[in-house]
Amino acid sequence: MSRVDKLKASLITKALRVAITEDVVPARVLRALYPMLYETLPLKEEEKEGYLYALGYQMGRKMEEEFEHIVWKMSKPPLTFKDLMYFFVKGATAVSADKIELEEVREDAAVVVNRTCAYCWGLEGKYSKPVCFYYSGAIAGATEAALGGTAVVEEVDCKAKGNEVCRFKVRYKP
Ligand SMILES: [Zn+2]
Repeated sequence: MSRVDKLKASLITKALRVAITEDVVPARVLRALYPMLYETLPLKEEEKEGYLYALGYQMGRKMEEEFEHIVWKMSKPPLTFKDLMYFFVKGATAVSADKIELEEVREDAAVVVNRTCAYCWGLEGKYSKPVCFYYSGAIAGATEAALGGTAVVEEVDCKAKGNEVCRFKVRYKP
């Protein structure tokens, strides 16, 4: 078993254990909560987008620091952006029950697709632009917490906008 495979196995096992035994928010709660939050937050649109992104960012950082950080710290050679994106997608799928895929990945950019996005569930086709700012922020926060540097995430397709999937472009600078 290669080092990367060991790391992968360790993360997935850990993720599943947390999902099964600890207090992970059930997907159905998230599905009810975030779309409602998006629709009822008493903020102007731009403020709302920034707020939700920032909220997701903090959550992404927290999840990363509390949950996966130790795995990366033990990894040698150091974790790369590509590895992180791969693990993020595996880990996120394990803990959230969402169907999340890595569509593209390079040293400094990636495309993440969520086919069953909880964040715009029930809002399909209702908006003219993406709404899953929380999820964009979460990817950015997790990436920065794991690797340092700067990550910016933009949702380019969204089920709330009538697209078939939610699609997130991740850009990373070490
Ligand atoms: Zn979306």
